[in-house]
Amino acid sequence: MDQEQDYFPTKAYKLASAKMQALLNGELKRLEKLGPLSVEVCKKTLPEIIQFTEQYHKAFMNYLTAVLPQHKNGIQCGPNCGNCCRHYPMSIEPFEQIAFYNAIRKREDLFSILEACLARTKNFAELLEKSQTENPQPDDPEENALHAFFEQNFPCPFLLKSGSCGIYEHRPVTCRMYFSETPKEFCTAEFLQTKNNRSFIVYLPDAIEETIADVSRYYENLNLSEALYEGILELNSLDGELFA
Ligand code: SF4
Repeated sequence: MDQEQDYFPTKAYKLASAKMQALLNGELKRLEKLGPLSVEVCKKTLPEIIQFTEQYHKAFMNYLTAVLPQHKNGIQCGPNCGNCCRHYPMSIEPFEQIAFYNAIRKREDLFSILEACLARTKNFAELLEKSQTENPQPDDPEENALHAFFEQNFPCPFLLKSGSCGIYEHRPVTCRMYFSETPKEFCTAEFLQTKNNRSFIVYLPDAIEETIADVSRYYENLNLSEALYEGILELNSLDGELFA
C-alpha cells in the first residue's frame, strides 16, 4: 500500500495546485497579522478558521479531480464502503481539528463520541507502547502501531452502519486522500500489505505541503494532537474557552 505516484503537470493539475497555493498564501498573510494564535485569539477568529478549512477541503477535492484520472488502473472506491475507516486517523491539521470539533460539539451523541475517542486513543497508546517495548529499535514504531490498530477492525465512531461517513462534509484531508485501485475486499488487514492490495495516498506537491506546515505552525500554542480522536478530546477540554 501507500504507493506514491508523481503526477504529470497537466493543465488541470497546475490550476488546482495554483489555487491551493494561493488559498494557503492568503491564509498565511492573515495569520501573520495575528501572530501565533492563543486560545483567546483563536476564539475571536473562529469564523475565519472554519471558512478557511472549508475552502481548503474544497481546494483539495479540486486537486483530486485533477489527479485521480492519472491513475490508469482506475479507482475502485465507492459509496458505502468504509473499509479504510478502520485506520487510526493521523496527520490532521490543527485548523481541521478545530473545524471538525466545531461541527460535532453540539451533537446529542457527543458524550458517546467522546467515550469512543477515548477508547481508541487509549488503545492506540497501548499498541504504540507495545510496539516500542517488544521491539526497542523498530524501523517505525508508530507505523507498526497503526497497522496493529487497523488489524483490530475497530471502526471510526463516525462510520455509519451503511458504511458511509457520518461527518462526510467535515472529514479531514487525511480521510479524503486515501484510495484503492483494487476492489474493497482487498482493503482489509489480511490483504493490506500484499500484492492484492493497491491502495494509495494522494500527496500534494512539496511546496504546498510546506505552506500547510507554515499555516499550522501558527497553532502551535494550542498544542493539539495530530491524531483525530485525541484532538477531539483536547478540544472538548477547551470547549468553554475556545468555542462560543
Ligand atoms: S471521519 Fe469519516 S471518513 Fe474519516 S475515518 Fe471516520 S468515518 Fe471514515
